Amino acid sequence: MSASQAAPPERLTLDHQPNREGPWRLQAPAHHPKDEACGFEVLDDFERFNQANDIYTRGQWDPRIRSEKVINWFKGMFKPGLGARAAEGYTARDFALRNAGWMGANLTIQRSLSEGRVDGFLDYIRPYSAPSPDRVESVSPEETSEEVKRVSRLFGADAVGITHYDPRWHYTNSFSTKALAEKPAAIPEGLPHVIVIVTAMHYEAVKCYPSATAGIAVGHGYSRDCELVQSIATYILNLGYRAVACVNDTSLAIPYAIQAGLGEYGRNGLLITKDFGPRVRIGRIHTDLPLVHDQPIRFGVREFCATTCRRCADACPPKAISHGAPTEKVPSQSMMIGIRKWQVDPERCFKFWVNQATECGICMRVCPYNKDTSRWWSRGYYRFWRRLAASPLKRLALRLDFALGFGARMKPAEFWRRFRTR
Ligand code: SF4
Ligand code: SF4
Repeated sequence: MSASQAAPPERLTLDHQPNREGPWRLQAPAHHPKDEACGFEVLDDFERFNQANDIYTRGQWDPRIRSEKVINWFKGMFKPGLGARAAEGYTARDFALRNAGWMGANLTIQRSLSEGRVDGFLDYIRPYSAPSPDRVESVSPEETSEEVKRVSRLFGADAVGITHYDPRWHYTNSFSTKALAEKPAAIPEGLPHVIVIVTAMHYEAVKCYPSATAGIAVGHGYSRDCELVQSIATYILNLGYRAVACVNDTSLAIPYAIQAGLGEYGRNGLLITKDFGPRVRIGRIHTDLPLVHDQPIRFGVREFCATTCRRCADACPPKAISHGAPTEKVPSQSMMIGIRKWQVDPERCFKFWVNQATECGICMRVCPYNKDTSRWWSRGYYRFWRRLAASPLKRLALRLDFALGFGARMKPAEFWRRFRTR
């Protein structure tokens, strides 16, 4: 569900598959005591992921993925009108809204593009300054953790959790758009804590998937995240501690968010948060500020996806989401090796995105955990529904959700009408 914003190279010089042997294998234990609480099934043959294998990165170098359509898909983020057509939700106005949403993220990316870096998407966001030499001593890790969470919310985070650095989720390699080659991916050493923040995406925009109109939810989500993680990192740097901000780069956001107690893993391959379901973006700040760690949470998602719901798999147009049980079998090199989980085929998914000339989020829209929680009555209903979904009455919960029309698509024309009359 993420899109690298790198300006696409005009030529292809790579035709290899990044190596999966030797240096890519994890040099540390594949298991962690918190895994069970997180719902992780990490196997002995676990391998860290190489970001050059990420489907969006492969769109830059792999001739099996890269095509004229893929090049235009990337270019469309920057070139006004590219991909626009006379279809509701895909007009020049819809693409204009989507591309405008990306501007905050683009400013972060542009900062380092000439050096072959793509800050926030392929490379961590380089800190704007060194830590203050006059360190503000923290009272206690507990109080500092509460304070950093309050500061994160002040800047716009919708939920915050803290966990430990976990090398398993860090990419072995990243990709240089300048050299069109892999390069080692690592954050500076000695940062034992990870602050994970989530921000909710626009509910009505997400309801418009599939369409370019809905793309505002993704682009603006990334833009907010880029600003937010840099603000939190800057706060910590000013206190005299080290802080490195990440968005899509450096490591896998979802396992970190689960470890930090922000949600569970769903059949649709997304983080399902308690308050916003899968309708979130995730950012991280690695730091040596003394902090305490949160515990993973469970509120019934795994059981609901496993026993009752298939809505995301049924709704996915290219059938990229599995109807079956979690498995370690992976049909694509863009998937992780050595984790038993619900698999989502990124090649099928991305092909659908490219054919739309914009991204998709149908599996986010239809998920029953995706509810509008901005009003008291809808918040109340969602709390009730969540309890029902976690009880033996799971089928009733799913039927109720259908009967009340949740998950249905909003026509982009209706989105614009509401937008204009507010
Ligand atoms: S193509 Fe399928 S998996 Fe991909 S975003 Fe759309 S619904 Fe989700
Ligand atoms: S749509 Fe249903 S099966 Fe898919 S992630 Fe959401 S709850 Fe799980």
